[in-house]
Amino acid sequence: MSLQMPLPDLAILARRSEIAAAMRTLVPPAHVIDDADAVRVYESDGLTAYRQPPMLVVLPETTAQVSAILDWCHREGVKVVPRGAGTSLSGGALPLADAVLLGMAKFNRVLDVDYGDRLAVVQPGVTNLAVTRAVEDRGFYYAPDPSSQIACSIGGNVAENSGGVHCLKYGLTTNNVMGVEFVLMDGEVLRLGGCALDPAGLDLLGVIVGSEGLLGVVTEVTVRILPRPETARALLIGFATVADAGACVAAVIAAGIIPAGMEMMDRMAIHAAEAFVNVGYPLDVAALLIVELDGVEAECDHLVEEVEAIARANGAVSVRLSQSEEERIAFWAGRKAAFPAMGRIAPDFYCMDGTIPRRRLPEVLERMAKLSEQYGLAVANVFHAGDGNLHPLILYDANAPGELERAEAFGTDILRLCVEVGGVLTGEHGVGVEKRDLMPVMFGEIDLAHQQRVKCAFDPLLLLNPGKMFPVLHRCAELGRMHVHRGALPFPELPRF
Ligand SMILES: Cc1cc2nc3c(=O)[nH]c(=O)nc-3n(C[C@H](O)[C@H](O)[C@H](O)COP(=O)(O)OP(=O)(O)OC[C@H]3O[C@@H](n4cnc5c(N)ncnc54)[C@H](O)[C@@H]3O)c2cc1C
Repeated sequence: MSLQMPLPDLAILARRSEIAAAMRTLVPPAHVIDDADAVRVYESDGLTAYRQPPMLVVLPETTAQVSAILDWCHREGVKVVPRGAGTSLSGGALPLADAVLLGMAKFNRVLDVDYGDRLAVVQPGVTNLAVTRAVEDRGFYYAPDPSSQIACSIGGNVAENSGGVHCLKYGLTTNNVMGVEFVLMDGEVLRLGGCALDPAGLDLLGVIVGSEGLLGVVTEVTVRILPRPETARALLIGFATVADAGACVAAVIAAGIIPAGMEMMDRMAIHAAEAFVNVGYPLDVAALLIVELDGVEAECDHLVEEVEAIARANGAVSVRLSQSEEERIAFWAGRKAAFPAMGRIAPDFYCMDGTIPRRRLPEVLERMAKLSEQYGLAVANVFHAGDGNLHPLILYDANAPGELERAEAFGTDILRLCVEVGGVLTGEHGVGVEKRDLMPVMFGEIDLAHQQRVKCAFDPLLLLNPGKMFPVLHRCAELGRMHVHRGALPFPELPRF
């Protein structure tokens, strides 16, 4: 792989058996995996281009065990990489050769549901969809719905501040998490937030959500649950050009309508998804919008009419309204399966995640098409159009020499383009290792130093998930005093990557 990770500490590697033995005193012995074949299962996450088997895997099942593991690793200078379900598309859960991989899958219980306060308290290994499953009998659901929701964990969602098709109206994870229990690298256990709407003090919960496993380990999450809207309808709207679809998105928002979801797929994505799920997507259009409206029935009917009128005024060539709940779900099934559907047309795909101002959509898609020609790699577009959050899927073959490197370079150009037009490097997948080296495209040295000071406040020894998010690793004591004198860096012994 072309990605450079921190070099493994040979002294730690030499202590592998001793570290495994110590872990077996902290958790049931069967919950420590150090067999070379067995740890390979964890070598990658959703960013499959990069692989690295971990030194060993530990699977705690209580907060006290997480605290004891982190405390031990902190005292012994052993790095730790937290992992939920391993679906990260930015390589956030990519293991390190000299680190303990802390698998949170055994934290899989819904602890409490309070319908009066509309809250659920869950362990971090519970899957996103399982939260909705736990409360749907009473007419409730958990709104943020990543397409990976059958597999990804709430702990991972908190760490990545994940989004989904319904986040346009209902907010991202950060808007739906009320509190967490959180273990710091030195083993200390914190509780942040809770049942109250706006707890006193600094908003540390806001810092934790989206911290990508760099600040601590989430061991419990309190989420907001919502009553299901009385009615929800989805429209499939086809356009002859991507520009028309982009203009329609902008016009809907400008009209003051916030749909429950507004997603766009381009021709390649439409064809792949339709072949995969057969839900009747129009195949003769260049762009497809799926727009969902929800609320009480009269409001929903009114919004459907308004959106249809706006779509027609912006050149829609086909409009189809879901006629039943089953059909609405089927409309979404193609969108939600769009990533796996790419497997039908290419052996590998590289999913990018940048966000742009909505008005720049047509221009960005056009420039992306030119880049696609330049790199000789196809790109399919599936994205949260309402949020301007793009997910270009670059198709490549990892077995063809040079294609991964071309895909990486193409992806880099796309993200640079997003920043150039006033957007940002990520929408919902996080920085991880994927966008780590691009952080200076968006942030200056001072911005990055301040971000890393937050990291240092939580984890001064930089033992938690190192090599992710920050392009240069400054020792905490060194921060702010980086000065290159006559070509010589201070602290030359520090790993820089
Ligand atoms: C097909 C597919 C579709 C996807 N669609 C979406 C989408 O629509 N929207 C979206 O936002 N994302 C999407 N993703 C990305 C991914 O599912 C999310 O980022 C998800 O939140 C990761 O959860 P996870 O449990 O798999 O976490 P992991 O991949 O295991 O870890 C992700 C990060 O979280 C950290 N972490 C995990 N658990 C904890 C914990 N308990 N405490 C502290 N840190 C922790 C890890 O260290 C890592 O940095 C998709 C992925 C795939 C494969």
